[in-house]
Amino acid sequence: MAAGERPVAVVTGAGGGIGGAIARRLVADGFHLVALDMAAERAEAVAAALRAEGGSAEAAPLDLRDEAAVEALVGRLPRLDAVVNNAGIFDERPLLELSAEDFRRHYEVNLIALFRLSRHGIGRMGAGGKIVNMASRAFLGARNHAHYVASKAAVVGLTRAMAMELAPRGILVNAIAPGLVDTPMLRALTPERLAQQLALQPTGRASRPEDIANAVSFLAAPGMDGITGQVLLVDGGKSLG
Ligand code: NAD
Repeated sequence: MAAGERPVAVVTGAGGGIGGAIARRLVADGFHLVALDMAAERAEAVAAALRAEGGSAEAAPLDLRDEAAVEALVGRLPRLDAVVNNAGIFDERPLLELSAEDFRRHYEVNLIALFRLSRHGIGRMGAGGKIVNMASRAFLGARNHAHYVASKAAVVGLTRAMAMELAPRGILVNAIAPGLVDTPMLRALTPERLAQQLALQPTGRASRPEDIANAVSFLAAPGMDGITGQVLLVDGGKSLG
């Protein structure tokens, strides 16, 4: 398939642990991959590695909080078939130590940046387009990161609202809610908290980034039809209680 004929997917946070695995998986699925990350070197490295392996990929080193940069990126793509809103930030602090600024920071990246790219992207997508939003199992409630929990619960709400409004255009919108995933983000947890959390996960281990990438691959596939507004928990059974 010539490069211009491939479906195009933008993956945000592609320079991170989960985003890198998603990028690799979508290239294997036949997408031309746009590896977006504000960490420019990591975005370039991911795209270069995928090209070296024979895949079709380019880097988009930009900050999702920059409206003009997001709009310019979307405008220059030849087509757009899938947006994977994976970029996110996380830190741990008890409720009484949180400030309004902590909430603003998390909402700006985890929620508003996701909306921003989606809104620009929707105009370039035809019927069959897919949006996959990265929520977190934490949307169900969790201790010591209320700002993150609230931002991810908002991602679930936004996913459902987008699904309803975009279904008439043939664009399907779903979310994935990972439990613990083995990435650098987990280093924000103290060793005690990490052990505590793993004990609650029936599989007894953190998921691998590839487990999340498999779920994204399913929800972003050009042939996937009939599923929209859903939240797929990829949490090793933790939500079973
Ligand atoms: P990570 O920190 O390894 O990667 C996140 C990436 O997003 C980084 O490369 C970072 O540079 C990028 N990013 C952050 N802000 C950005 C911005 N404004 N513009 C552009 N890029 C930006 O994190 P991860 O563990 O790979 O997490 C990916 C997603 O999965 C996040 O949304 C996270 O909330 C979610 N998640 C992770 C876990 C986990 O256990 N790791 C669990 C549940 C959900």
